[in-house]
Amino acid sequence: MAGEKGFTLWFTGLSGAGKTTISGLLETELRARGSKLEILDGDIVRENLSKGLGFSKEDRDTNIRRIAFVADLLSRNGVPVITAAISPYAEIRDEAHELMGDRFIEVYVKASVDTCAERDVKGLYAKAFAGEIKEFTGVSDPYEIPENPAWVCDTENESPEESAQKLVEYLEQRGLIPVAAVTA
Ligand code: ADP
Repeated sequence: MAGEKGFTLWFTGLSGAGKTTISGLLETELRARGSKLEILDGDIVRENLSKGLGFSKEDRDTNIRRIAFVADLLSRNGVPVITAAISPYAEIRDEAHELMGDRFIEVYVKASVDTCAERDVKGLYAKAFAGEIKEFTGVSDPYEIPENPAWVCDTENESPEESAQKLVEYLEQRGLIPVAAVTA
């Protein structure tokens, strides 16, 4: 779509916070409006672009820098991007922000360790608490909460659908996505 504005919705939050779920809902909504979109999901990037990287600080930083590099390439060419990786370190998120300037929109997908452990959709928290996974974010590895995110998805108090809807309204208000056609 000619003239579409590129931006990067940079999701950050613990494993199981809802990054993948909410990005999927947003994708459906944005595509219904004829918008282009790419999602750089942490789990998928680690199977491809970052295959072979582990979870040391150095490897985590490399992974996030790669995601930022691709998000920058896409968003500067008018493609909206959602990144859905834990991105635990503020310093590297800030680097991505510097790279993309005002195309970078930090979204904190908020859920506590306790909430994520209760959900434990992938069974990873049980393993992490049992000491079977080393360097697990929020349990045995750091997660630095964003100090000044552009937006917060409060997943402990709203459904994934509500989080996605509110984000859509936020993007509309910023003039970044086409307003939905009125039906009926
Ligand atoms: P992440 O990508 O952050 O690791 P996922 O989206 O893979 O997280 O998993 C989040 C899980 O939590 C999903 O199974 C989702 O259905 C569940 N969930 C429960 N409540 C919410 C909520 N309010 N927002 C997002 N996800 C939620």
